[in-house]
Amino acid sequence: MSGGGKRPVRVRFAPSPTGYLHLGNARAAVLNWLFARKEGGHFLLRIDDTDRERCEERYVEAIRRDLAWLGIDWDEEARQSARLERYRAAAETLKAAGRLYPCYETPEELALKRRMQRARGLPPVYDRAALALDAAARARLEAEGRRPHWRFRLDTDARVVWEDRIRGRQEVDPASLSDPVLIRADGSFLYLLPSTVDDIDFGISHVIRGEDHVTNTGEQIQIFTALGATPPQFAHYPLLRAKDGGKYSKRAGSSSLAALREEADLEPETVLSFLARLGTADPIEPVLDPAPLIAGFDFARFSRAGASVDADALDQLNARVLHLMDYERVKERPLMAGLGADFWVAVRPNLTHFGEVAIWRRVIEGPIEPLIEEDDRGFCATAAGLLPGAIDAGTWKSWTTALKDATGRKGRALYRPLRRALTGREEGPEMAALLPLIGAARARKRLLGESA
Ligand code: GLU
Repeated sequence: MSGGGKRPVRVRFAPSPTGYLHLGNARAAVLNWLFARKEGGHFLLRIDDTDRERCEERYVEAIRRDLAWLGIDWDEEARQSARLERYRAAAETLKAAGRLYPCYETPEELALKRRMQRARGLPPVYDRAALALDAAARARLEAEGRRPHWRFRLDTDARVVWEDRIRGRQEVDPASLSDPVLIRADGSFLYLLPSTVDDIDFGISHVIRGEDHVTNTGEQIQIFTALGATPPQFAHYPLLRAKDGGKYSKRAGSSSLAALREEADLEPETVLSFLARLGTADPIEPVLDPAPLIAGFDFARFSRAGASVDADALDQLNARVLHLMDYERVKERPLMAGLGADFWVAVRPNLTHFGEVAIWRRVIEGPIEPLIEEDDRGFCATAAGLLPGAIDAGTWKSWTTALKDATGRKGRALYRPLRRALTGREEGPEMAALLPLIGAARARKRLLGESA
C-alpha cells in the first residue's frame, strides 16, 4: 500500500485501440469512473497505442463514442504514442541501474530452451544467460546482425507483496517468472514499461483492472520501485464469464458495446447499471441516474468469484430501465416522432427493447391485419356496432360492459377476440389505453375484418 499521506484519487482507463470496446473492457472503464467520481478524483482516458501495427484511429473514435454513450466522462486524455520519449528516458534509467539488460536469443532459441527445461522437469523460466555476456560477446553478436531485446531484471530475493483492494493480500514470487521483455528488438515498447511510466507521470493512485493483470502487477511494482516511485494501490476484479462458460457472453454475434447498442438494442443505462454491480454483493438494479451507483461503489462489495453475463438478464434489466423512463426522456428519439405522452405511457410497460415502439406505432397507426377467428366474426361485428364515435379513456370499460350485456360473453371470450381484432396480436398493452390511440374509425374497420 502507498506510504505517506493520502494521495488524491487519480485513476485511468487504458484501452488499446485495436478493436471495439466490449463488455469486459467497458467494465474497467465503469469501475474506474465510479471510483473516481465517488472520491472526487480524476479520471484519465489513456489510449495504449504503442502497437502501431494493430492500433487504428477509428477504434480511438469508437472508444470515445462508446464511453460517451455510457455516460462516462473523462477529465483528461493521453496517448502513449505521444510519450515515447518518456519511455526511452525511463529505459535509460533502468539500464543505468543494471535493471534492464540486452538479450540476443531468437524466438527459436528461446523455444528450444523452454523445451529442454520442460524435459528436465524445470519451469520454463528465462535462464538469464544474456546477463553473463560481456562487452566482447555482445559486440560479436551485434556484428552477426543481431539486435537486442531488453529484459527487466526482476529482483528474485523476496516475494512481491501488496494489499489488493479486492483480493486482499497478494504475493507474487518473482523467482517463478521470466524477466519480462520491456523493449522488442525493433525498439518498440511492450505494455509493461509504458504503463508503469504513465502511472507514475500521471500520479495514478489506484489501478483498477481485471485479475488477468495480477502477474503484471508483481512485475510492475518492481518497475515502480526501480524508477524511484511509490506504487499505486491495486484492485483486481474477477473477469466476466458467459453463462455457458466462455470468457464473456456472445450475443448477436458479438458483445461489443456497439453491438449491444445497435443489435441488442440495449439502453446505456442498462449496461451501466449492469456493469456497475456485476460481480458484487449488491443486487443489479436499474437506474437512470448514476448517482446511487457512484455513492454505493465499494471495493469491499466485490466477490472473488467470477461474474457471469447472461443475455436474458440484460434484456430483463433493459425492460426495467425502460419502464422507469418518462416521456420527456424519450420524446426526441426518431421512433417517437409524432407520438405523445399518452402513447408512451400506454406501451412502456410492454417494452423490453426500445425498438418495439415501432410495433405499437404500427398498431395505432396501421395498417395492420386484424386477427379474427371464424366463430368470432359475429361478435366482432356486434362490437363494431356498439363502438361509440368518440373514444376516450373510459370507453373501453363502458363499451365492453355494453358488449357483455349484449352478447352474454365474459372474461377471455369477451376480451381476447377484441384484442386480436384491434391489434392483430395476442398480447400487448392495456386495451383501455390503446383504444383511444387507435381511434374509432380504425377500430371499427378492424372489428369488421378490414386491414386498417
Ligand atoms: N492496455 C491495457 C489493457 O487493455 C491496460 C491494462 C491496465 O489497466 O494496466 O489490458
